[in-house]
Amino acid sequence: MDYQAFFADAIDALHNEKRYRVFADLERIAGRFPYAIRRADGVEQEIVVWCSNDYLGMGQHPDVIAAFTETAGRMGVGAGGTRNISGTNHSIVELEDELADLHDKEGALVFTSGFISNEASISTIAKLLPDCVIFSDELNHASMIEGIRRSGAQKMIFRHNDLDHLESMLQSVAPDRAKLIAFESVYSMDGDIAPIAKICDLADRYGAMTYLDEVHAVGMYGPRGGGIAERDGVMDRVDVIEGTLAKAYGAMGGYITASRAIVDAIRSYAPGFIFTTALPPGVASAARTSIRHLKTSDAERQAQQRNAERTKAALQRAGLPLMPSETHIVPLLVGDAESCRLASNLLLEEHGIYIQPINYPTVPRGTERLRITPTPLHTDALIDALITALVDVWQRLDLDRHEPQTTPAVQAVGGNARIAVFPPAGG
Ligand SMILES: *Cc1c(COP(=O)(O)O)cnc(C)c1O
Repeated sequence: MDYQAFFADAIDALHNEKRYRVFADLERIAGRFPYAIRRADGVEQEIVVWCSNDYLGMGQHPDVIAAFTETAGRMGVGAGGTRNISGTNHSIVELEDELADLHDKEGALVFTSGFISNEASISTIAKLLPDCVIFSDELNHASMIEGIRRSGAQKMIFRHNDLDHLESMLQSVAPDRAKLIAFESVYSMDGDIAPIAKICDLADRYGAMTYLDEVHAVGMYGPRGGGIAERDGVMDRVDVIEGTLAKAYGAMGGYITASRAIVDAIRSYAPGFIFTTALPPGVASAARTSIRHLKTSDAERQAQQRNAERTKAALQRAGLPLMPSETHIVPLLVGDAESCRLASNLLLEEHGIYIQPINYPTVPRGTERLRITPTPLHTDALIDALITALVDVWQRLDLDRHEPQTTPAVQAVGGNARIAVFPPAGG
């Protein structure tokens, strides 16, 4: 049997579909965010990163770096084992207190990543509930889908942010059956926001539990960075709030916050929590420093929103196909995988601008896009340079542009209509 051939064939299939992924070899430069050094074919090039999920640049904040190095200097690098076998580093105890306070919950539990926190928590919750049905938004992240799958529970997928569809599904299940509604606050590829309060109303009416992924909102929304649920004043209505320490907080790790009983049950039953080494103390300490900073400082959030708005307006004026977004995420529609990759390559090679192409299966076919994430540290000059570069690339690849506009940004509308506004580009 030629085993290698199976793997080579699998890779060939991706090449044929023009969605083989290449990762840039980058070295970020602490203190000079959003610049990085890129290495390719033995050449070093300084580039500007426009697709980082270090949304606020906190991964390079001097206090966060200091917490990381100081703690590592004092306690060493690794955690020394799983919490089950080796105990809990004090840094994690403090981090969990900070997180419970952030979301105003009785408890918090930290995992080695946001992915693991979703996979472990959803699967454990749905296993512990007898005969549970999970109602899952169709655009939920892969980590939630894995958790649902692992639970073995029945699942019903509702149309994205569609309350009527969700309600009809809730109605179709016996009132006395356990129900879990799993959804996100900010959807990271479209930049739209879930109607959290209305979903909680439905949960109340039909006796369901709620599980909310706030990965793309924590640190960035709400007066203390508690996310969209904090902004909307509904944190107490959501049973489980999940987040990451790796995006706006600029570190690494994931977590849930919930009632004492839920946190203790997941701590006690989830293999993805129990059988893996804990976060390093330096990372926990860096994450806590970042969370504490963003609880009181609003400057980063305001500058991020301003720069996102400014970037959207500039794209709009240039006639580039901005997809409507209510948030800091700025998606630019390309419409096919090959053009998306070519556009990304040209931006990098000719303009020193790095925006990773987003292709299927991350987004549906025909909606391939460049996902731009302006941060507080992208200056107006960088935004101008980005627009100039994009216009050049759009012309060279003969991609669709509108007549340059002077009207304000397109308002977000529901479902497929968002996509229909911008027909897939040729080229
Ligand atoms: C990135 C992401 C995760 C996973 O978080 P990590 O900390 O990167 O593992 C979970 N949910 C959503 C919606 C995400 O985008």
